[in-house]
Amino acid sequence: MSDEREQRELLATACHILYKLGLSDYLGHPSVRLDAERVLIKPKHSPRIRGMDRMRTEDMVVISLSGDLVEGEHQPPSERFIHTEIYRARPDVQSVVHTHQPMSTLCGIANVPILPLLHVESPVVEKQPIPVFACAELIQTSEQGARVAAALGDHRVCHLQGHGIVSVADTIQEATLGAIHLERLAEVNYKVAQLGREPRVIPHNELQALKRQLASPAGRWAYYAELASE
Ligand SMILES: [Zn+2]
Repeated sequence: MSDEREQRELLATACHILYKLGLSDYLGHPSVRLDAERVLIKPKHSPRIRGMDRMRTEDMVVISLSGDLVEGEHQPPSERFIHTEIYRARPDVQSVVHTHQPMSTLCGIANVPILPLLHVESPVVEKQPIPVFACAELIQTSEQGARVAAALGDHRVCHLQGHGIVSVADTIQEATLGAIHLERLAEVNYKVAQLGREPRVIPHNELQALKRQLASPAGRWAYYAELASE
């Protein structure tokens, strides 16, 4: 894991991207694991902390895996336990993005499967079906967070039904791109369902070949970061 300053910048950029693409407004939060005990996370919405487009590197707060504030002048989000319990359950996960992104949330509510239909985007939903945490309550305790982590299992994304989604990865960039790709897939799956046609689902062997063909996430991240800075 690179230094904290860089992680703060990446986290702020993730907020700007999620806002720019309409995946978050003032709700939702990305985080990154700093070390075995500490997590850096976007702070709670407040009179001083408004839309995701305004997030600055210095606004981010540090919390412990118990969810306690360790460093920062703002409060951590009440739903920080989504993050802390996933980090406890998944040593492989270095970044968690939680949003209320509309199309993915809609598919979760309506039980519309988000299948691998688009080539660049599909690796995020390779493991089917996408798990569903069937509860719309706010995740405000470690017990609730542990249930979300259990629902996620070893997947990259999970529906929080009637609420939003979670995307996890080993970098902020990939967790954010995962949320973006999930939303694009949700939109296409929804439209296919509307057409009443049977979609062509990308088969496993094609998906494996595609994964070998795809460039690293760096270029996609640079594109979205530039878009969000305009
Ligand atoms: Zn939420």
